[in-house]
Amino acid sequence: MSSYSIDTKCVQSGYTPKNGEPRVLPIIQSTTYKYSSTEQMGRLFDLEESGYFYTRLANPTNDAVAAKIADLEGGVAAMLTSSGQAASFFSIFNICSAGDHVVSSATIYGGTYNLFSVTLKRLGIDFTFVSPTATEEEIQAAFTDKTKAVFGETIANPALTVLDISRFARVAHANGVPLIVDNTFATPINCKPFDFGADIVIHSTTKYMDGHATSVGGCIVDSGNFDWDAYSDKYPGLTTPDESYHGVTYTQRFGKGAYITKCVVQLMRDLGSIPAPQNSFLLNIGLETLHLRVPRHCSNAQAVAEHLLHHPKIGWVNYPGLASDANYELAKKYLPSGSCGVLSFGVKGGRAAAVTFMDSLKLAAIVTHVADARTCVLHPASHTHRQLSDEELATAGVSPDLIRFSCGIEAASDIIADIDQALENVGI
Ligand code: PLP
Repeated sequence: MSSYSIDTKCVQSGYTPKNGEPRVLPIIQSTTYKYSSTEQMGRLFDLEESGYFYTRLANPTNDAVAAKIADLEGGVAAMLTSSGQAASFFSIFNICSAGDHVVSSATIYGGTYNLFSVTLKRLGIDFTFVSPTATEEEIQAAFTDKTKAVFGETIANPALTVLDISRFARVAHANGVPLIVDNTFATPINCKPFDFGADIVIHSTTKYMDGHATSVGGCIVDSGNFDWDAYSDKYPGLTTPDESYHGVTYTQRFGKGAYITKCVVQLMRDLGSIPAPQNSFLLNIGLETLHLRVPRHCSNAQAVAEHLLHHPKIGWVNYPGLASDANYELAKKYLPSGSCGVLSFGVKGGRAAAVTFMDSLKLAAIVTHVADARTCVLHPASHTHRQLSDEELATAGVSPDLIRFSCGIEAASDIIADIDQALENVGI
């Protein structure tokens, strides 16, 4: 559906029923698929023929939703995963092995930071974290001869820094490695990282894409732009025969689909992190209204941010849509239609005041989530980032008083009234 606007793609991409077929994307809740000849099944196993044989590798419901997200991002291929964490892990592990190295923005989701700095490190993959505002020279200085990728978040959770995608892409490409961007907070409605040079985009679809807090999920999308063969020595897994698939060379056999195909047939095969088709069905229903919900999340967050900016009990407000925000200029470039529904702020009085404020909210609920249709709130230092030391918190852009506030799609006036009544309980 490449000629349609993104609004139409949200509603209709990925599934086009033929005459007499269901209008709504069917849930193919089947682990397996029937064939009448041994030989045909064998050809599927050898990747010589395409077709479904086992849902851990591919499922029609999952594939339709992945195709929709690929279309929204402007990519050539995509795959769904059972969580955003699995998408982050696979996106790196598909091209890195023990001994390799990745340069990452330091302001990323706490779970991703932990995955990189603890779990992937245990697997022998090292990360160097750089500021999202690092100069090209500073990013360059983080490279080693083992660097295989650069990673960042379009809008960081919860620091709300905006990644200078073009700058990170330039340095990545000058070193012959791809830029992987987590576009969860911006969504393709507000930013398409491929337009600025990113090569791979990942999502926690759990957030705005699902939008209703029903299903944990993730997605990896390939732009098809990175020339793996030009850097064959760095990416032998893609450019030389895979003995676990009878000598298939992914770039030769699958061209621009090489990265996603390898990720599916190797990593999904071996690590098995697929979403249930039922969850993909729910994700698709969420995607059908993404273009309607995201602008409302953003206008609500803008109204809340502007209100808090002048509130005497609020010490500071971070929101890329505020002209006073350090990320405003980057947001104008990368997020001209709006950034996201999440803002962060500090209540005067520090950690204790933050807890009183949160416990006094009536409409906004304390939940470990953001990007829900319902307004929700979290204290990262006590929740998502509690495993980090104060020093690591500072590097990740999370101060102990930081409240992460995710505006839903209720009326802005009701959200603001709830905040005001909660602040009345905070004594300063
Ligand atoms: N990336 C970002 C930006 C996130 O905010 C999250 C979760 O909050 C993740 C990745 C991980 O996603 P999931 O919780 O779906 O595993």
